[in-house]
Amino acid sequence: MDKPKTHRVFFALWPDLETRRAISRHAIPSLENVAGRNVDQHQWHITLAFLGNISEEMLTCVQQQAAQVSVQSFELTLDTVGYWSRPKVVWLGSQNMPDVLKTLVTDLNVALKACGYEPEYKDFKAHMTLIRKVTRRPANIQFMPITWQVEQFVLIESSFASTGSDYRILRQWSEVNK
Ligand code: ATP
Ligand code: MG
Repeated sequence: MDKPKTHRVFFALWPDLETRRAISRHAIPSLENVAGRNVDQHQWHITLAFLGNISEEMLTCVQQQAAQVSVQSFELTLDTVGYWSRPKVVWLGSQNMPDVLKTLVTDLNVALKACGYEPEYKDFKAHMTLIRKVTRRPANIQFMPITWQVEQFVLIESSFASTGSDYRILRQWSEVNK
């Protein structure tokens, strides 16, 4: 019998073109001496909730539940670079997590519970991975902060490609299109 089809999915904030350009222009040059594998700019994102491999039924459920979550536009200032030694990643983040973002993650987690989802981490830390396979903590990274006007959150399907993971936006939710 065929294996039931599964989808590897996650909810994320997806930077618009202007934000990606600002990151390329301001943050990336400050990281040029960091040795590792750069994430392609078309893949930059901030994961809100990672569901992993789920069934078609669960995919339907999570989309229905996500539609119940209220979305409010907010400003996110990307002003800090961090390093995590275990996943060996350098990421871009914010020193101040906006309350609207905290609420969005909490609401999403609550909504997804109805589909059987349990968040893995209690303390969500918004981060955009920029470089992988980094084995040394970068020192003294300075750059001009980037202001991102976040208008929506998205559901992404991740699939394995020869070049690494390939992401596809399945759906998006914003204040206006709900
Ligand atoms: P690859 O696994 O090929 O290196 P990737 O990690 O970007 O690429 P996925 O493994 O599909 O691709 O993960 C998609 C997103 O979800 C990434 O931002 C990843 O950091 C995040 N993620 C993956 N696994 C988890 C997890 N267990 N908990 C929280 N976030 C996760
Ligand atoms: Mg992964």
